[in-house]
Amino acid sequence: MGESISRVFVPSVTEEDGNTLSLGCFSTEEVAWQVLRTFLNKSEQMLLTKCSVVVWDIDIVGEEAMTVLSSMECKDCPVCSRRTFWIDTDNFSALCHGTACSAWIEENTVDPEIIDCGWPTIRFLKQNKSIDEAVEALFKLGDKLKSAGAERMAKENAENLIGENNTEE
Ligand SMILES: [Zn+2]
Repeated sequence: MGESISRVFVPSVTEEDGNTLSLGCFSTEEVAWQVLRTFLNKSEQMLLTKCSVVVWDIDIVGEEAMTVLSSMECKDCPVCSRRTFWIDTDNFSALCHGTACSAWIEENTVDPEIIDCGWPTIRFLKQNKSIDEAVEALFKLGDKLKSAGAERMAKENAENLIGENNTEE
């Protein structure tokens, strides 16, 4: 075992026109993710469709040298409608990287049968039986906000608006 690097981690993003941007090549997975996450905060200024972190083993010929570690797809956010909603289909999680939104979906940490979703702005939280149901819940929330012309609504008003939905146990 020498000091030399045997594998590198390469984060990249794909734009809507199919153009792929490589974000560099890093010696640890942690740094690769940091670089990718920082970049995803710009997703609101671009139209992105996919991103991934790929591992390349050094000095190996052919495609066996490459392993896709993780990949995510970008969709329109159900709540804020911007193309900033990153979905990790392998891990059943999603997060909106749009400013002041952060709508999210995650597998429940205690019961993996349950899919949680939420919107931190009004501390909205709902438990669902499937990803589809979670996405649906966020769309309903987004529709309510939109129909009230509420995109920039003050927090208190939004809370009143959604309050009726939040009473379920
Ligand atoms: Zn959003």
